[in-house]
Amino acid sequence: MTVTHNLGYPRIGARRELKFALEAHWNGESSESALNETAVKLRAQNWQHQGNLTLAPVGDFSLYDQVLDMSTTLGNLPERAASDKGSTLDEYFRVARGRSPGDSACCSVHAGEMTKWFDTNYHYIVPEFSADTRFNLDPERLLEQLAEARAQGVAAKPVIIGPVTYLWLGKEKDDSQRLDLLPKLLLAYSELLEKLAEAGAEWVQIDEPALVTELDSEWRHACILAYHELKVAPVKLLLTTYFGELRENLQLACELPVAGIHLDAISARSEVSQLADWLPPHKVLSLGVINGRNVWKTDLNATLDWLEPLRDKLGERLWLAPSCSLLHVPVDLERETSLDPEIRNWLAFARQKLDELNILAKALDAGRDAVAGELEANREAIASRQGSPRVHNPAVARAQAAITPELGQRKSPFSTRTKLQQERLQLPKFPTTTIGSFPQTTEIRQVRRAFRQGDLDQDEYTKRIQEEIAYCIEQQETLGLDVLVHGEAERNDMVEYFGEQLEGYVFSRFGWVQSYGSRCVKPPILFGDISRPNAMTVDWIKYAQSLTDKPLKGMLTGPVTILNWSFVRDDQPRKDTCLQLALAVREEVLDLEKAGVGIIQIDEAALREGLPLRQSDWEAYLDWAIEAFRISANGVKDETQIHTHMCYSEFNDIIGAIARMDADVITIETSRSAMELLDAFKGFEYPNDIGPGVYDIHSPNIPQVDQVTDLMHKAAERIPAERLWVNPDCGLKTRRWEEVTPALEAVVAAARELRAAQ
Ligand code: GLN
Ligand code: ZN
Repeated sequence: MTVTHNLGYPRIGARRELKFALEAHWNGESSESALNETAVKLRAQNWQHQGNLTLAPVGDFSLYDQVLDMSTTLGNLPERAASDKGSTLDEYFRVARGRSPGDSACCSVHAGEMTKWFDTNYHYIVPEFSADTRFNLDPERLLEQLAEARAQGVAAKPVIIGPVTYLWLGKEKDDSQRLDLLPKLLLAYSELLEKLAEAGAEWVQIDEPALVTELDSEWRHACILAYHELKVAPVKLLLTTYFGELRENLQLACELPVAGIHLDAISARSEVSQLADWLPPHKVLSLGVINGRNVWKTDLNATLDWLEPLRDKLGERLWLAPSCSLLHVPVDLERETSLDPEIRNWLAFARQKLDELNILAKALDAGRDAVAGELEANREAIASRQGSPRVHNPAVARAQAAITPELGQRKSPFSTRTKLQQERLQLPKFPTTTIGSFPQTTEIRQVRRAFRQGDLDQDEYTKRIQEEIAYCIEQQETLGLDVLVHGEAERNDMVEYFGEQLEGYVFSRFGWVQSYGSRCVKPPILFGDISRPNAMTVDWIKYAQSLTDKPLKGMLTGPVTILNWSFVRDDQPRKDTCLQLALAVREEVLDLEKAGVGIIQIDEAALREGLPLRQSDWEAYLDWAIEAFRISANGVKDETQIHTHMCYSEFNDIIGAIARMDADVITIETSRSAMELLDAFKGFEYPNDIGPGVYDIHSPNIPQVDQVTDLMHKAAERIPAERLWVNPDCGLKTRRWEEVTPALEAVVAAARELRAAQ
C-alpha cells in the first residue's frame, strides 16, 4: 500500500473560527479555556478531513505561528517576555504581538520581529538568539496534541521544524554566531524525539526547508552534524524539504542518516529521478505531487504517467503527499457555492487536494480502473480548463507577441523629462505629497458594502464616493500639500479593486489564507488571459482633478504586485501572466494621460516579495518584473510624471533593478531606519527623484516638525536636495483623520522650512 501523508493543514478553519476565537480572547471577551476549546475542535475537524491518509500531521496546528511554537517547545522565548504574572499562553501572545504599557493585562513588551516564511506570503516570528541562549525543552504542546490525535484514532506523525532550519530562520541579538548554539540545541532535539517516541510516535516529520536555499559550508556542515547526532533517536525521521530544488544540497540531503526524505516534486520535479537513483535502498522517498501553493486541480492522469514507473522502481518506499503544508491554500471549495461553476470545476482547495492524493494512491495500489470514474472526471476538468475560450484570448496573445523593448522605453532620458515636467507642474522645491489612500472610515466601508450588496444603486454610490473624494481634496488643499490624490475611498484592497475589473479573474467568498496570527488574506484567482474591458480609475481621478488646480496624482497598482498577491495560473510561466497584467495597466496609464492627468503613480509594494529563494535566480525574476513595470509605465509622454511606491526598507541588493524601472519619482519607507537605507541609493548614485518616508504610518505617533526636518537633512546628506520629495511612508488608510491631519501639517510645515533655508 502506498503511504499517503500530509505536511500540514490550514488551522484558521473553513469559517475562520480560529481568527474570531483569537480576537475575542485578545479583546478580553473570552477566556483562555474558551480559546482552547475552539482549538481542540478545529484540530479534531482537521484530522477528520485528513482521515483517509495513512499518516496525518500533529503539531502543525498553531494558535499563532509554527515557528513561535517551536521556540516555545525549545524554551527559547525572549527573556523580556517572561513574567511571573499571567499564564504561559499569555507569555506566548506577548512575544507574538507585543504589549504596550497601557494595556490592562500584564507586562509591556515589544513583539518578536515578523518576517516572510521563505517565498510565501505567510509571516513567522523570528527566533532570537544570543551567546547565552539556553534551550529548555517544553514538549507539553506536542505531547498533548499527540495524545489528542491518538485518542481520536489518528495515525499521527508529529511535525517539527528541524534544528538547522530553526537556527537559519532566527537572528542573533548580539555579536555571537547562532550556529555555535547547535550542540546545545541538539540536546533539546534529542530529548524531544525521545519524548515523542515514548508517546507512541513512529515517524517524525522534521522540516528542513533551508535545504532549498544557498547554504555555505558551515551550514552544510551543521546539517551533517545535526543528523548524525539525531540518528540514535528512537523514531524514524522524515527529512522534509519544500518550496524549491535541492540542487547542490541534493547529495547532502540523500546522505543524511534519516529514514526518509520528502521532496517538493512540484517545484523540484527535475530532481525526482536523480533522488530516486541516489537514495540508499533503506530510505523512503516521499514525493510532494499535489501543489500546496496554488488552487488548481492536479492533472491526475499525467501525474500517474510519471509516478507509475517510480512506484515500480521504489515499491513501498514511495510515499505521496502534497508538495508543502496546505497552510498556503484555502480550506474547502465545497463552500464556494456562488463561484462560476465552470471555473469552480478547475479548482481544488485543501480538502480537495487531499482527495486527489487518495485517488493517486488508490490508482497506484489497485490500478487506474479502481478509480476510473474519478480519473475521467479529472481528465474532463483539466481538458475543460485547457481548451476554454475563457482562459485563452487570442487578442491578448497577439498583444503579448507584439511586445518589443521599445514598449518599455521612455521617449527621453530623465534629465530631459524632469525639465518638461517641471515646466508643466511648477512644483516648489521639496514637493509634498502622500502615497494615495486617506483614512478609510467606517462610513466609507459601509457605503462600499451597501453597494456590493445591492442596497445602494450606482448613482447613489457614485455620489457618496464623490463626496468622500471632495472632502479629501478639500483637506489636502487646506493642509497645503503640493501633489494631491483622490484618496482611494472606492478601493477595498489595492489588488482586488483591479482584479474585479479585469477579465481573467474570479473571486472566492471564503478563500482565506493565513498571513500571520489572526490575519488572513483572500487572494483573487487569476485564471485566464488578462484584458481590461473598461477604464478602471479614470472617472474617479478626473472627478478629483476637476475639484482642484493643484496637480493630481492618478493611482494604480503595478503588474508585479497584482501578480504576487494573487493565486495565478500554473499553465504558463509567471512572466507571461505578469506581462499581460502590464499591458492592461499600460492601457489604464495611457487613458489617464489622455484624460489630462499629469502624474501617475504605479505602486509596486510587492516587487521584493517575488524574489526567488536563491539569489542566483534573482536576476531572471528581476529582468521580467522590471520589464513588466516599464511596459506598464513608460508609454507616456515626457511631460507626464511617473511615480512608483514601495513599502519596505531593504534596497541594497536590488537597487540596480529599481533604477532600471526609471520612474521619475520613487517613494519608499525610510522613517524607521532614520534614512540609513538611503545609503543604498547614494552608493549607487540613483539618478531620479526620491521621496523618503518621513511619517511612519504604522505607528500612532504623530511626527513633529523638527523630526521631519531632521530626517530630511539626513536624507539630503545622501541625495541631492533638489531631487527630494517629502511624504509619508505608505498609504494612510489605516489611520484616523485625527492623526493624519496634524501629521501632514508637520510634513508641510517642515517642507516650507526646508525651502526657506535653501
Ligand atoms: N496607494 C496605496 C495606498 O496608499 C499603496 C499601499 C501600499 O503600498 N501598500 O494605500
Ligand atoms: Zn506602502
